[in-house]
This record gives sequence, C-alpha cells and structure tokens, in this order.
Amino acid sequence: MKICPKCNTRYSDDNLNFCLNDGEYLSTIDDSPATVIMDAPRVTDQTNWNRYEAPQTAPPPAPWQSPAHNVQNQSFGVPQMNQSLDQTLPTVSLALGILGFLLVCCYGGVPLGMAAIITGFLGMKNAGNEPHKYGGRGLAIAGLVLGAISLISSAIFILISIAAG
Ligand SMILES: [Zn+2]
Repeated sequence: MKICPKCNTRYSDDNLNFCLNDGEYLSTIDDSPATVIMDAPRVTDQTNWNRYEAPQTAPPPAPWQSPAHNVQNQSFGVPQMNQSLDQTLPTVSLALGILGFLLVCCYGGVPLGMAAIITGFLGMKNAGNEPHKYGGRGLAIAGLVLGAISLISSAIFILISIAAG
C-alpha cells in the first residue's frame, strides 16, 4: 500500500512510485502488517544480538594481545621512567633547532641549524648504537628536522636578500 503525502490518495499498487494526480513521490504505508513487521525485527535483533555476543566473548585474542602490548610499553617505559638514559645531545639538538628556527630571519638558522643537525645526528647515532645508554631518539630526530628546516629557510632568506640587494 502506498499513499501520496500531498493529496492523500492511496494506491494499492506497490510498484507505483509517483502519484498519478500530482506526481508527488509516494510513501509506503503498512497498516496492520506494520505491527508484525515491528515485532519481527525485535526477535531477529535478539537472535542477532546473541549471535554477535557469542563471538565477542569467544575470541580472547583481544585480552591476550593487550598484555603483550603492556609488556612492550613497560619495556620501553621503564628506562624512560628511570631517566638513566643520556638525552643531552637530543635535548641540545632540539633546543638549537628551535632557536635556529626562531632566528631564521637573522640568518641564525645557518649556524644554529647546522649545530642542531650535527647534535641531532650524533644523538640519533648514539641512541641507535647504544640504546641502553642513550635515549631521546625522537627528540634527536625532531632537532635534526627542525635544524634542517632552519638551515634551508635561512639559506633561502640569504639567497632572496642577495637577489634583492
Ligand atoms: Zn497526489
């Protein structure tokens, strides 16, 4: 059964999509079967719910994986918590990189950027060669990248000033 929302004409032909009087898009109506249809999904929903609930409790890989992740986090977290790793070079590198980035306009990016790249590279190398002694690999990479950006930006600034001068 279909009904036109505009003129309320009812059509028994379900294949009809548009009202024959005004061309309005017909909406499907279900009179008495509506309650049956409403009840039916509830039953199937319950069965589906039970079907989906079973696999949720069935695969214990999820709780089995999380301890593995915890172990990994602990092995990485403990050295950082102890702060026994030397992060001097990466910290210096990051500081130089930020300073160089701030001083790009004053050509400070060239010496500071180069220093940041060198210290960042050394810090990265140390962390890679002796990870039990040196840390801050992420800091070193950040310092290296910032230093490179500062150096390149300063170089571009210098080139522009030469071209303008
Ligand atoms: Zn109509």
